[in-house]
Amino acid sequence: MDKMILSQMEFYGYHGVIPEENRLGQRFYVDIEVGLPLSRAGYTDDLEETINYAELYERVKDIVEKRTFKLIESVAEHVAMDLLKHYSILQEVMVRITKPHPPFDIHFQGASVEIRRRRPIEVFIGMGSNIGNRVELLHEAIRLLSLHPRIEIARQSSLYETDPVGYKEQERFLNMAVAIHTDLPPEELLFELQRIEMQLGRKRDIRWGPRTIDLDILLYSRAELKLPLLTVPHPRLSQRAFVLIPLAEIADDDSVPGIASLSQHIEHMAGKDGVYKWIS
Ligand code: ATP
Ligand code: CA
Ligand code: CA
Repeated sequence: MDKMILSQMEFYGYHGVIPEENRLGQRFYVDIEVGLPLSRAGYTDDLEETINYAELYERVKDIVEKRTFKLIESVAEHVAMDLLKHYSILQEVMVRITKPHPPFDIHFQGASVEIRRRRPIEVFIGMGSNIGNRVELLHEAIRLLSLHPRIEIARQSSLYETDPVGYKEQERFLNMAVAIHTDLPPEELLFELQRIEMQLGRKRDIRWGPRTIDLDILLYSRAELKLPLLTVPHPRLSQRAFVLIPLAEIADDDSVPGIASLSQHIEHMAGKDGVYKWIS
């Protein structure tokens, strides 16, 4: 990712936990690194294709000088959120805030915090259960996802009861799809899903066998990834009516790379007969 960097911006602000700091103020240094695509600006030589760094400077200055926070962590968080919200071209932001002269009687080069934030993206999770109280397990998985500070539930599909595929000697499944917004990188998200599966009693013995809960990453924005532990879109997505039918309820018709129209694709699937809308 290309970057724009503004280093050692110097401001006068009133942040701190000590009342003196709020009254007298002190100097702050701010470094910003923003990730954005810069090649169009490079070819066209047009300011509209990038960010005006004088304007970016003013936005940061407004937050650091006009507002008062106790913690430099809060200053950094507000700067990062403001920039991601205001500039849609920005994909990620690094903010470092330094107090060069904190009001303590010790000598050091200053105290800093540095944070990195990314624009949350839309991810689709496929869920399935065929052991225990299936409805409760699916709802509990969604609740546990929503408790994660970096995950927001955006939409949920209906529930579908589905005939087992791959390994037939087992109970029917309940399946659904959920859209979330998250800034977790793909492998960290997979790790969180596996943590929730463990918490809900998932065991792995028979391949495609019975399970209390299965949480798969179906789509991670429009990314196509082949990592050692993770393939996105989910490798068997296009063959699975029990995944695509719930997904099509909450995703755009063209959201699966390689499938021009979800609705038309489903129309032609053999497996769609084993997928029944669940009425609880
Ligand atoms: P299937 O992957 O065919 O749906 P499953 O869900 O029963 O089968 P699991 O035992 O849950 O398979 O997962 C096996 C491994 O698949 C996981 O440990 C994970 O590393 C890997 N994996 C690869 N791509 C994905 C993905 N998109 N979502 C979830 N797991 C994935
Ligand atoms: Ca699965
Ligand atoms: Ca899985």
